[in-house]
Amino acid sequence: MLVVMQSQATDQQVAAVERHIRELGLSPHPMRGPTRTAIGITGNTSAVDPTSLEGLPGVRELLRVTKPYKLASREMHLDDTVVRLPQTSFGPGTFTVVAGPCSVENEEMALRTAEFLMQRGVRLMRAGAYKPRTSPYSFQGLEEAGLDILDRVRRETGIGVVTEVMDAGHVELVEAAADMLQIGTRNMQNFILLKRIAKSTKPVLLKRGISATLEEWLMAAEYLLSGGNRNVVLCERGVRTFADHTRNTLDLSVIPPVKKHSHLPVIVDPSHGTGRREYVPPMSLAALAAGADGLMVEVHPDPLKALSDGPQSLDFAQFDKLLDSLKRLAEPLGRTIC
Ligand code: PEP
Ligand code: MN
Repeated sequence: MLVVMQSQATDQQVAAVERHIRELGLSPHPMRGPTRTAIGITGNTSAVDPTSLEGLPGVRELLRVTKPYKLASREMHLDDTVVRLPQTSFGPGTFTVVAGPCSVENEEMALRTAEFLMQRGVRLMRAGAYKPRTSPYSFQGLEEAGLDILDRVRRETGIGVVTEVMDAGHVELVEAAADMLQIGTRNMQNFILLKRIAKSTKPVLLKRGISATLEEWLMAAEYLLSGGNRNVVLCERGVRTFADHTRNTLDLSVIPPVKKHSHLPVIVDPSHGTGRREYVPPMSLAALAAGADGLMVEVHPDPLKALSDGPQSLDFAQFDKLLDSLKRLAEPLGRTIC
């Protein structure tokens, strides 16, 4: 349910409506827009008599939100959300490029990559310290030592860092070293983790589960939003299908429906989406054309020696070429690469 206030409603009237919602045993979520305030209501609204709210001073109308995801829905929040980090932002008009190695392997490579990216205007580096690997024999990430490296690199270069949190017990540690917390595909429905990260003040990158429908994905976002974290960026990274010509099937056709049904920014990860570096540039351009708000690409100083996901990682020269073509495509589309 959504209470739309009149444009001249006072702060006291908004507060009174919030109080009334709480008295009904429900949760109010005020959203202040440029012209008016709306108050989202979550909880079991089925038994609520709408007339009790409609009659309150300052209320213009009461709308029913039909989708099961309420706070993530465009029905409740018409304007596109902008997610701001100290170094960059995700939202309409811009196309935010996030790049970096699959894993932090050592300080030297992390620093070299960060310096290269900063020089190219990329303000957010991805790199995993905790790695979810299919095989227990594969490189598992440097864990806490990797976080220490990321923290030093961001302090030294000024780059922002996004890195995965795999365990609710690690959130505090990761928060201290990162500017944005990544929830990986395998954890999209780890509800304990979602509830813990909902309490974090850091923005979240929420990857789509390997076989998640759009509704399941947005319901996972709803856990974050309803728990208090409004800074959520979605990331399409490919889903599991019968096709085996690519590592996953990058579902770019999900971008327009995400935009239609949600106000949250959505970016695309063509590296995990395709698994092959030669497919990354065309799918990156397609992501921009499809209306995504950005890109997350794996870039490594020496992909042939990478400890994880080398075959899908671009080297610096390949990334430079990709940035050039993105800039050329962005112009006629009225977008700015950031
Ligand atoms: C990653 O980005 O490093 C990663 C493991 O991605 P995903 O969760 O999409 O597999
Ligand atoms: Mn990877």
